[in-house]
Amino acid sequence: MTHGSRRNRPVAGWKFDNSYARLPEVLFVRLYPVPVPAPKVVVFNTPLARFLGLNPDAFEGDEGAAVFSGNRIPEGAEPLAQAYAGHQFGAFTMLGDGRAILLGEQVTPLGERYDIQLKGSGRTPFSRRGDGRAALGPMLREYIISEALHALGIPTTRSLAVAVTGEPVFRETALQGAVLTRTAASHIRVGTFEYAAMRGKPEELRNLADYTIRRHFPELAAAGNPYLGLLGAVMERQASLVARWLQVGFIHGVMNTDNMALSGETIDYGPCAFMDAYDPGTVFSSIDLHGRYAYERQPQIAHWNLARFAETLLPLINPNPPEAVAMATSAVSGFADAFRRHWLAGMRAKLGLVNQEADDRSLVEELLDCMHRHKADFTNTFRDLASGPPLEASLFQSPDFKHWFERWQARLKRQPETREEVGRRMNACNPAVIPRNHRVEEALAAAVERADYSVMEKLLGVLSRPYQEPPEESGYHLPPPPLVQPYRTFCGT
Ligand code: AMP
Ligand code: MG
Repeated sequence: MTHGSRRNRPVAGWKFDNSYARLPEVLFVRLYPVPVPAPKVVVFNTPLARFLGLNPDAFEGDEGAAVFSGNRIPEGAEPLAQAYAGHQFGAFTMLGDGRAILLGEQVTPLGERYDIQLKGSGRTPFSRRGDGRAALGPMLREYIISEALHALGIPTTRSLAVAVTGEPVFRETALQGAVLTRTAASHIRVGTFEYAAMRGKPEELRNLADYTIRRHFPELAAAGNPYLGLLGAVMERQASLVARWLQVGFIHGVMNTDNMALSGETIDYGPCAFMDAYDPGTVFSSIDLHGRYAYERQPQIAHWNLARFAETLLPLINPNPPEAVAMATSAVSGFADAFRRHWLAGMRAKLGLVNQEADDRSLVEELLDCMHRHKADFTNTFRDLASGPPLEASLFQSPDFKHWFERWQARLKRQPETREEVGRRMNACNPAVIPRNHRVEEALAAAVERADYSVMEKLLGVLSRPYQEPPEESGYHLPPPPLVQPYRTFCGT
């Protein structure tokens, strides 16, 4: 690159303010990404870049390749790997960023703060036996599914770019290496608190808790017991988040405590996937042998994770241990109610119910049971109900469904909204398109095997407008053809 073209390069727009790097040093290790030989950006999220205050033109060619692979550290960044612990499938482990580097926090033109993290950026002191790297397929998969959740209006980390590294990673076979640039409200996890609590130094823990309150729940700072308030606020966000997942058929797949962000964002897109036919026991992850993280278990698991979070806060909640336990237990016991409230509100909306009746829960459950018995497509059933049921589908022909349908029609008559208004409201909250597994696989195969990113770009376009009917012939709304094998997902490590 000539000196002249460098000088003419547009200003990138980085505006880092790295508050995490000012926390006690035990919470992280400062280090740089490990350079890669031949980086190239293969996907770039222009709208997200603009939202962050970055100038997409500044990342054309070599500059974007260098920055989004970790070869060049942007001005103002203070790279570090975060320390954390976590319960993985119920067992406590010391973890930390084993293949990620936090560059710092970008302050957006709106004054909001977002972590910029490189995932797949090389070994760190937390890598254990891992290589610190990521394969292209799983990074593209995270890009697609996280952006789909964002477009559905569900809180989530997002994906700014994927760069290939020009270096293979070795899993069962040699795969192309890649780095994903992830943005997040923060990367503070339940596991971050587990790590701080385990060190047994109350001041470190208090420092982290005060920081989390300032960053995500500033209104709690003046509360009587801000740490009990923190527990309640995190619980409320998780209850809302998991309810939102269930309402679109999303299965996170690896809800370990290190994969639960206190901000309330969905984080860690490993084995996650969307369900097609409704079955509450659905599990996609190949390593989830006992269905710990099955679709319908997600609320219980969130509750279990929150109990682990509560345990870390005990010394801050009250200096008297039995009193602290009583206060935390009472707070966490509110999760089930909080979840049910969010879930019922969301399910009412999915069925176009604007007012509330005592029997609404049973109305929703009767429909779900019916869908389960008939293996009805979760997404399309609600969409079909909005426009009046198609007469040919087996679900809509069955006596149990007809019974439910009449009950629902009678229920709708007890609210003032017209049928058209109900249909309009339903279509605004029931997606027409989700990232169907077979379409995601098709996009990944084209990208990974043939370096053809057009299939993925088209899919991303449709997923960015999930409540809009896709062109009929595109087939994006269709469930998969009958599968020989059930769909399986892998952690991608
Ligand atoms: P995950 O299953 O993605 O939540 O990762 C769990 C832990 O394993 C985290 O500490 C990761 O940083 C670490 N990890 C995952 N993959 C690798 C890898 N290839 N190299 C090093 N550490 C990894
Ligand atoms: Mg993780």
